[in-house]
Amino acid sequence: MSSMSPTPAEPSPSRTAAVIPAAGRGVRLGPGTPKALRALGGTPMLIHAVRAMAASRAVTLVVLVAPPDGAAEVKNLIDGHALPERTDYVVVPGGATRQESVRLGLDALPDDVSVVLVHDAARPLVPVDTVDAVIEAVRDGAPAVVPALPLADTVKEVEPAEPGVPEPGVPEPVLSTPVRARLRAVQTPQGFDRDTLVRAHESVAVDGEGATDDAGMVERLGAPVVVVPGHEEAFKVTRPLDLVLAEAVLARRRANDGF
Ligand code: C5P
Repeated sequence: MSSMSPTPAEPSPSRTAAVIPAAGRGVRLGPGTPKALRALGGTPMLIHAVRAMAASRAVTLVVLVAPPDGAAEVKNLIDGHALPERTDYVVVPGGATRQESVRLGLDALPDDVSVVLVHDAARPLVPVDTVDAVIEAVRDGAPAVVPALPLADTVKEVEPAEPGVPEPGVPEPVLSTPVRARLRAVQTPQGFDRDTLVRAHESVAVDGEGATDDAGMVERLGAPVVVVPGHEEAFKVTRPLDLVLAEAVLARRRANDGF
C-alpha cells in the first residue's frame, strides 16, 4: 500500500491576456485597406499594436480579432513578423460592431486567464509603461481600469443637427459646457478582471452601433471603474493627420534608439 498522498493540484497561476479588436474598416481614414492593415513605418498598424501588448512581460497571450473575411491574412501577417517567444497568439474573425468583435475575442480566452486587456489596433504606439500601469491597477484589485488624459480643448454638449453625423456648416445649439477639469479623454488598453468584463458583455445591452468603450459597459453593470494616467503616444489613429503624427513618433523613437 502506498503511503503517498496525492499531490494537491497547484492553483494555476493567473494569466493576463490582451484582446485586440482590429476588425474595423477605418472609413474616417479614407478609402483603401482596413485600417489595422495599413502600414506605419513600413509595418502594419496591427503588428505595432501586438508588439505594444507583447512588450509587457505580464502579457502571455494576445487574441487578435481580425476583419470577418481577413482572419487568414492576419494569421499570415503575425507569422511573418518577429514577435516575442514568450507570447502566444490566437486569431479569430470579428463581428459587425466593435462590441461584437470584443465579445468574440473574449470567447477565445482559455480558462486560466483572469486579467484581460482590451486594446484598439488603432492605438499602435502605446508605451509599455502605460500597459504595465493598467495591469498593475487591475492586479491591485480594481475590476476595471482605464488610461486617460486631461483634455486640451473645452468640450460643449450640443443638440446635433443630424443625430450622429456632424453636418459641416449647420449651426448646432449648445446645451451645456462641462467643467473641463473634471473631464478625461480615455484610451486603451483598458484592463479588467475577466469575470467582470464577461458579465458586462453578457448582460449590458447597447443600442445602435454598440459600445465603443468596454469600461462604459462595466459602469452600466454598476461596478467601479478607475482611471490611471494615459500617454500622449497612445492616441488613436482615426483621421489622415493622425498617420502623419504616428510616423513622426516612430521617427523620433528611431532617432532616440540610434543614440
Ligand atoms: O472605429 P474605431 O476607431 O472606433 O474602432 C476602434 C477599434 O475597434 C479599432 O481597432 C477597430 O479595428 C475595432 N473594430 C472591430 N470591429 C468592428 C469595428 C471596429 O474590431 N466591427
